[in-house]
Amino acid sequence: MRISQRVQRIAPSATLAVSQKAAKLKSEGVDVVSFGAGEPDFDTPDHIKMAAAAAMARGESKYTHVAGTPALRRAVAEEMNRVHGTRYGVDNVIISIGAKHSLFNLFMALLDEGDEVVVPTPCWVSYPEMVSMAGGTPVLVETRADEGYRIDEARLAAKVNKKTRAIVLCSPSNPTGAMYDAETLTAVARVVRDRGSAETVIITDDIYRSLVYRGEWVSMARVAPELGERVILVDGVSKSYAMTGWRIGYCTGPKDLVAAMSTLQGQSTTNATSIAQAAAIAAITGSQECVETMRVEFDKRRRVMVDRLRAIPGVKVNEPEGAFYAFPDVSAYLGGRIKDDLALAEHLLDKGRVACVPGSGFLAPGHLRLSYATSMPQIEEGLRRVAATLAEIS
Ligand code: PMP
Ligand code: GLU
Repeated sequence: MRISQRVQRIAPSATLAVSQKAAKLKSEGVDVVSFGAGEPDFDTPDHIKMAAAAAMARGESKYTHVAGTPALRRAVAEEMNRVHGTRYGVDNVIISIGAKHSLFNLFMALLDEGDEVVVPTPCWVSYPEMVSMAGGTPVLVETRADEGYRIDEARLAAKVNKKTRAIVLCSPSNPTGAMYDAETLTAVARVVRDRGSAETVIITDDIYRSLVYRGEWVSMARVAPELGERVILVDGVSKSYAMTGWRIGYCTGPKDLVAAMSTLQGQSTTNATSIAQAAAIAAITGSQECVETMRVEFDKRRRVMVDRLRAIPGVKVNEPEGAFYAFPDVSAYLGGRIKDDLALAEHLLDKGRVACVPGSGFLAPGHLRLSYATSMPQIEEGLRRVAATLAEIS
């Protein structure tokens, strides 16, 4: 079958590929430790599940407004206003099928052929591909481990110009766990103001903002209020509330942009699942104790993972400040029998029975991404396997 050029240009998601391969091996009875999936191993909290059950019992099984139920949009607007100091109402919010879908709709609504989108690297696998799918051109700005993956103002300024339609920020970061401080965000806002056009926007993917272990999370909208609606916020319930499968994400921005995304959604997917929307209201407006319980547990796992990785000769890793990933530099093991990080990830899975995502997927060759959103015994066993497999290479 002839496949469209548009889709042929897209690389498959490296994160999903690894988690699916690990899941397949597990289903075949192979004892695999998976550090692949970027999803909490916790179950969705009971009060959230109960809200979905209650919605079903009430018969909320019909189409909702394309952009989401008024109740959920209101809850999201209030939450965003509380966190970011914005003054958004229902018409500034669109609910989509996960934050991934929000971002996809956003790029489709913003970009014309050739518009540039600046993406600091290492970056989440899907940003550059989504930008390309929407006809835009990803422009990469390198951030470095020895600079704590902060965005360097001069390097950023060299890439931002009047053709820049957007810059995408992810803090805390998938895959590095690094978080931007107020100084970094101020510098980014300054570059956008001084070098971009009046139409250059900042997209903040805040999906990990509740999972912070060191330092304080800072909102770009609060740092640069003068940019107003040029700061577009993307968030969702997947990570904070262990709701990856429910598929609810959201975006807030100017009304005309939200309306355009609604038009697109109305001609493609329609509303996010009605029952999942009811669950998301309970997540956002209910007790936040469950988030704290999970955060504390992730923090313990993070420490063990970083300590164990640092104990492996030649492995270098920054301490993640948020999210649930460690992103070690494993280049000491590459270039010989094992050519690169892709080959190493394959070797670790085949020989060590441990699944990690190759750094190349995040445009950072020479690295691996290990998710610590898995149980402590799995972390200990998995890192024992990583260490043993690497020891045989050197
Ligand atoms: N942004 C980042 C950085 C992510 O890691 C993810 C994880 N899938 C998403 C967005 C999308 O999450 P979801 O679609 O589950 O809301
Ligand atoms: N965001 C998660 C990850 O990076 C889930 C998979 C995906 O959507 O990419 O692993």
